[in-house]
Amino acid sequence: MFYSGKELKKVFDKAKKERYGIIASNVVFDNAIRGLVQGYEAQKSDGLLQMSAGAMKYAAGSTKNVEVGAQLISSMTKIIANQYKNSGVGLHIDHATPNYFDLVVYCIENGLVSSVMIDASHEEFEENIRISAEVVKIAHKHGVLVEGEIGYIKGAEDEIVSDTQLYTKPEEALEYVKKTNVDLFAASVGTNHGVTKGSKVTLRIDLIKQIDDLLIKNNVERGIVLHGASGLTAQQQIDAIKNGVVKINKDTRYQMEIAEAVCRYWLKEADSIIPPNGISDDDFQPDKKRFDPRKWIVKGEDAMQKAVEELVQISGSAGNSIMSK
Ligand SMILES: [Zn+2]
Repeated sequence: MFYSGKELKKVFDKAKKERYGIIASNVVFDNAIRGLVQGYEAQKSDGLLQMSAGAMKYAAGSTKNVEVGAQLISSMTKIIANQYKNSGVGLHIDHATPNYFDLVVYCIENGLVSSVMIDASHEEFEENIRISAEVVKIAHKHGVLVEGEIGYIKGAEDEIVSDTQLYTKPEEALEYVKKTNVDLFAASVGTNHGVTKGSKVTLRIDLIKQIDDLLIKNNVERGIVLHGASGLTAQQQIDAIKNGVVKINKDTRYQMEIAEAVCRYWLKEADSIIPPNGISDDDFQPDKKRFDPRKWIVKGEDAMQKAVEELVQISGSAGNSIMSK
């Protein structure tokens, strides 16, 4: 089913308490939403779908109207998710930088999302606190959760590119959480946005633990969010979750899955639409049974479903939906 912020809060509280992770999956179109929701349901796992500003622009078409895109993705998510009763997903805005403040408010006030990320991490620390607190004030009035970010996460994600990595300082995390009252926050602990293999990443488990311990000691325990987590090994993810991470973002992983599955299909079935060498257009008979979009797009959907099913087993959320008795 589709979770409002209130239900999503229960999901994260349970996950933090029982130390498993919620997989947050970036989506743009219906195929991705379907594949992922089916995967969460099959595993009786709660989840979170998330849309970036770029995804909203794309969804809207040539107008690039982010509000229209948000409406579309939100409606599709709600309709698809509400068919299922053994699990649930919320919808989240990924990396809304301060220039998207109005869009964030629009999505909150129109009930389109369950949670939002305000990413003012490239502002001065005080300004990051001010903007984040402002979003929290509006969001909490509507029962919507807020994720903030402290420190820079290296790499490129959607419209945000950072060449530098700045690790999150535990004392700053504490001050940030106390002053903003965010529900979750992204910490920079060594991961990179984009395609980076986990074996090449020095994931600072020690830093995750330091941050988590400090917040718990000060009675402001929060879930830590791991961005740029697509390439991490299973063990890296398990260690991160044990030490305080509660939300793991996946975007690139699914992009690779869908591209590979569709690519493999067409490497095999190209002769259903393109005449093989030596055969003229006149003699060529296209094969509708194989080029019908439902025959090949579904390969991408299936691959995404398989990927999320594997991910929720690693993160431990499989079988742990708040919907299951
Ligand atoms: Zn991110």
